[in-house]
Amino acid sequence: MFGRRFVFGRILGFEIRADPTWAILFLLILWSLASGFFPAMYPGVAAGTAWGLALVGTLGLFASLLFHELAHSVVARSYGVKVGGITLFLFGGAAEMESEPASPRAELLIAGAGPLASLFLAVAFYGVTGVVATAGAPDPIVGLPYYLAVVNLALAVFNLLPAFPMDGGRLLRAALWGMGRNLRRATKVASRMGQGFGLLLIAGGAFQAIAVQNFVGGMWWVLIGVFIHGNAGMTYKRLLDRLSLKGLTVGDVMTRRPVTVDPDSTIQQIVDEVIYRYHHHRYPVASGRRLLGWIGARQVQGIERARWPELRVGEVMAPADTSATIPASADAETALDRLQARRDGWLMVTDRGALVGVVALRDLQAYLRLRAELGGRAGPPQASA
Ligand SMILES: [Zn+2]
Repeated sequence: MFGRRFVFGRILGFEIRADPTWAILFLLILWSLASGFFPAMYPGVAAGTAWGLALVGTLGLFASLLFHELAHSVVARSYGVKVGGITLFLFGGAAEMESEPASPRAELLIAGAGPLASLFLAVAFYGVTGVVATAGAPDPIVGLPYYLAVVNLALAVFNLLPAFPMDGGRLLRAALWGMGRNLRRATKVASRMGQGFGLLLIAGGAFQAIAVQNFVGGMWWVLIGVFIHGNAGMTYKRLLDRLSLKGLTVGDVMTRRPVTVDPDSTIQQIVDEVIYRYHHHRYPVASGRRLLGWIGARQVQGIERARWPELRVGEVMAPADTSATIPASADAETALDRLQARRDGWLMVTDRGALVGVVALRDLQAYLRLRAELGGRAGPPQASA
């Protein structure tokens, strides 16, 4: 979901970073506070004061959001769920969990921690509002903790809606899972509700944009609806994939005996004899079984044709480093994660430095479909990228 990200640093060991789309959210909130909230609450407030308060309010909002995500992350870590970091993006923040909670109880506490943290902040900021007001601070200053109290309450309530992937959806899944003991069915119900809620937001947003002439607000709803709808469906599909890969190793699902090329072959030779013949996008470069690197059709495209007859594969291949390889003994779920994170969706499988196969996201997905059709009794995939 995320591309290039800006890293702020670490809090409690979790990397805090922002997706470029976060800048849009930041500016949108800053602008709506400076030109909407503060002038509406305190008519006659000076523009400079409003913008200053808006900036502090926006920073306070994102600090609150981080507090919410940190609460999820700390509880997740205590239950052995690995958290890859916290990312701020267009629609808020996300603690990126790299595995599923092991029990309904773990899921309940991990999901509940965020809204609880937001509720706590809402109460705390409400208390601060009272103290600041009693101390006789000017009105717009009192508005700042008041805004943060309201926004944290809104964060808690919105996240508690029972629509996966929001916290309320996770709580619902934990409850269903705890009662029925079937993660798959619990996820299905919670995801369907998430998809339904997403569609509701899209319809509501379209209505606002068209009937109420609130175009910006309406489109914002539509965008959030599309995001929630897509995420709910994807989460369910990913869970099904994971469940079918449980207990399998990369060696079980890889394509054995892949077509390899020799480092001493010329580019012309591999174009004529390998690329046009097998139509794969990438080939491991190996000498015997020893893996040396890999070469792809795209690299070949980048080389001047006149040089094809003399240039050797070994001179232009990409290295077979750990980013391009995975051990045959690694579990298949890890392979799925790494393939989904890679742009080319392709990894070479090794066993003590020797090439034993390749695994591609496309093949793994085909394998999962086969397994679903045959009721979990398919053999390893045979095609290759
Ligand atoms: Zn949350």
